[in-house]
Amino acid sequence: MNAPSQITSDFSSNDLHARIAQHLTYTLGKDRAHASTYDWRMAVSHTIRDLIVEPWFAATRRTYEAQGKRVYYLSMEFLIGRILEDAMINLGLHRQIEAVLAEEGIALADVIEDEPDAALGNGGLGRLAACFMDSLSTIGCPAFGYGIRYEHGLFRQRFEGGRQVETPEDWLNQPHPWEFERPEAAYTIPFKGTVWDGIWTPSETVLARAYDTPVVGWQGQWANTLRLWGAHPTELFDLDRFNSGDHTAAAHPEALARTLSRVLYPEDATDGGKELRLKQEFFLVSAALQDLLRRFTTEYDDLNLLSEKVAIQMNDTHPALAGPEMIRLLMVDHGLDWDAAKRIAQGCLNYTNHTLLPEALERWSTWLMGRVLPHHMQIIERIDAEHRAATGCPPHLGIVWQDQVHMGTLAFVMASHVNGVSALHSDLMAKTVFADLNAVYPGRILNQTNGVTPRRWMRLANPGLSRLITDVIGAGWEAELDRLRDLGAHADDPDVLARLAAAKRANKVALADWVAAKTGITLNPDALFDVQIKRIHEYKRQLLNVYETIARWQAIRQTPDADWVPRVKIFGGKAAPGYWVAKDIIRLINDVGAVVNSDPLMRDRLKVIYPANYNVSMAQRLIPAADLSEQISTAGKEASGTGNMKFTMNGALTIGTLDGANVEIRDRVGAENFFLFGMDADGVQARYAVPDHARKAILASKVLQEVLQVISEGRFSPDEPKRYHGLVDATWNHDPFLVASDFDAYLSAQAQADAAFKDPDHWHRLALRNIAGSGHFSSDRTIRGYMADIWGAESLLQDT
Ligand SMILES: *Cc1c(COP(=O)(O)O)cnc(C)c1O
Repeated sequence: MNAPSQITSDFSSNDLHARIAQHLTYTLGKDRAHASTYDWRMAVSHTIRDLIVEPWFAATRRTYEAQGKRVYYLSMEFLIGRILEDAMINLGLHRQIEAVLAEEGIALADVIEDEPDAALGNGGLGRLAACFMDSLSTIGCPAFGYGIRYEHGLFRQRFEGGRQVETPEDWLNQPHPWEFERPEAAYTIPFKGTVWDGIWTPSETVLARAYDTPVVGWQGQWANTLRLWGAHPTELFDLDRFNSGDHTAAAHPEALARTLSRVLYPEDATDGGKELRLKQEFFLVSAALQDLLRRFTTEYDDLNLLSEKVAIQMNDTHPALAGPEMIRLLMVDHGLDWDAAKRIAQGCLNYTNHTLLPEALERWSTWLMGRVLPHHMQIIERIDAEHRAATGCPPHLGIVWQDQVHMGTLAFVMASHVNGVSALHSDLMAKTVFADLNAVYPGRILNQTNGVTPRRWMRLANPGLSRLITDVIGAGWEAELDRLRDLGAHADDPDVLARLAAAKRANKVALADWVAAKTGITLNPDALFDVQIKRIHEYKRQLLNVYETIARWQAIRQTPDADWVPRVKIFGGKAAPGYWVAKDIIRLINDVGAVVNSDPLMRDRLKVIYPANYNVSMAQRLIPAADLSEQISTAGKEASGTGNMKFTMNGALTIGTLDGANVEIRDRVGAENFFLFGMDADGVQARYAVPDHARKAILASKVLQEVLQVISEGRFSPDEPKRYHGLVDATWNHDPFLVASDFDAYLSAQAQADAAFKDPDHWHRLALRNIAGSGHFSSDRTIRGYMADIWGAESLLQDT
């Protein structure tokens, strides 16, 4: 094993400099005199990757020697972001590389900025998978992440006239320096065709080829593999066709195969139900299971040991075909009988549920499933028959019901453990969607509250705050985040509070500079920076925030000289391309911004900023500069949230509902340090039962009436006064996420935030208590929970 110190002490700056120069010359083929920022980035990235290889090999050797249990994390999304800076920080080489580049007259910041985000995910679910990879390596738990190497990640967002316009994302247009292509690790993935007597003759096949990215943990002590699958044709080229002159058609097999890993579906929390998506899901699952079974059988010869040596986590239902596919592979390729195959599959598999929203629960028509995966359809029917017979459940609790395969039920039935992602969510799961299944399979549901990695979200994103924390509580907190508790003792230390204030202000100045360069809008760094960044979704209630923004604008216009606390409202987020309501909300935010930002009465008192193309790198910039974190979803709808945790550990105060992990955040930081408002999950249910709840709420709120009135009059869309009549009408008549019913409560919580902000000392004390209470939300804690309660896996890190 490599001791952590070896990495940093073995390499003097001279060594590093020589290695970078070597890569520049021989990997990039560039002379220093002509090297671009891109060339330097590649040279530095290759240098850093070289240094990860050693702990990576050592981790593999150690796992073989110890015959350790391996964890396989199956996820259709890994929202990684940039890799270089994170890897440098984990290796402890950040400052040294910066100095080396400075000698060459190159700014490390420019090199870091040159890297495209690996945006292989939509939002929270994919980012969670990326945080988990970091924590698994930091803890030294042997693990593989399995995903798809999408050529095009999540679309790029632009605004045209305030409207979202999507363009393709192309991170792989340039060489990706972090991965190793593995032509030898390739598996045939079958589709379609016919099944006779349990023998499947597929009519289509695609090759899944592995691309490995080592993921190094804190201090370089361990590295696991993120193995992404790229689709390739099983036969490259139709030579007969080419020879007969049909040159375009000859390339068809290639094009067809590649579509499988071409694009990430941009749907977040909705179920598209498209054939290509089903094929992508099976492509991931089959490649992953073939790969892990090959690894297992080279090490062990008794498949009964599988569940002792392998734990598989299904991140949502997207990989739920792992149940039937594992049974198929164990029977067809390894000769087991049905009962043994099913028992072993169940022993390995676990399922994480991420949502209770009915529109997000995956279902596939039996017709489509039968056509694309005819053998699996038969296996699913047999699993279903046994599930029904064993439990005597009513028909609607079957896996196959009304000509649809219910993937949540399939995942639940085939899993050893099923977990929710916050205490409230797990509780609601057991009481609502999975209540009946919970009754027939008691004890299967448990909770693992989400977390985020403090390496990326504090140390990397917020170096100023990180230095302060190290000075106050000592080094090493990045991997022992509970120690942030120790900050609590300094809540009345004027020096610590002053330094905290200075760190936050520096981040706000940096953000203001970035906004000015991007948009020409000047922000006052002493204003309250109020940030809502996340996917645009009705349940997340960006609309509530815009309505409050409009109310604030109207109030300032009425008495401009009152003692206003200056506010900057910052929004960020993408809408799924076909989600029209969300797109209307985006346009409204931008239209309101245009009016507010050009209103001479506003000046510093109110600004609305919506930078396009929210992604991980933008989150890293915005979160450290936030004073107020908007976590205002309708209670009972947000499974956990992880954005909420990132803000808390960076010293933003939350204005939020009792939803998802907000509940636990508030418990940990203290109720007096959190701006709570609105109905809780029970209140929400009761409210839905009130006839005309929206109209009643609006009629009781003069402020909301006026907000809806100015929108209807076309104040924000003078060229098209009726532009938002649909949105306003929906608020009056349907309001499915109870924006109107929570509006007044939200308004007064915002007023409390203003009042608290007027006393900077008080505010920073609250911020410090938030940081001090945030240690629980490290993804290290989450992963330790999975290891102990679900996987039965152990750390193989040796004490050095
Ligand atoms: C953390 C994160 C999310 C999840 O945010 P929520 O507020 O929990 O929905 C989404 N996108 C990006 C880029 C993130 O970093």
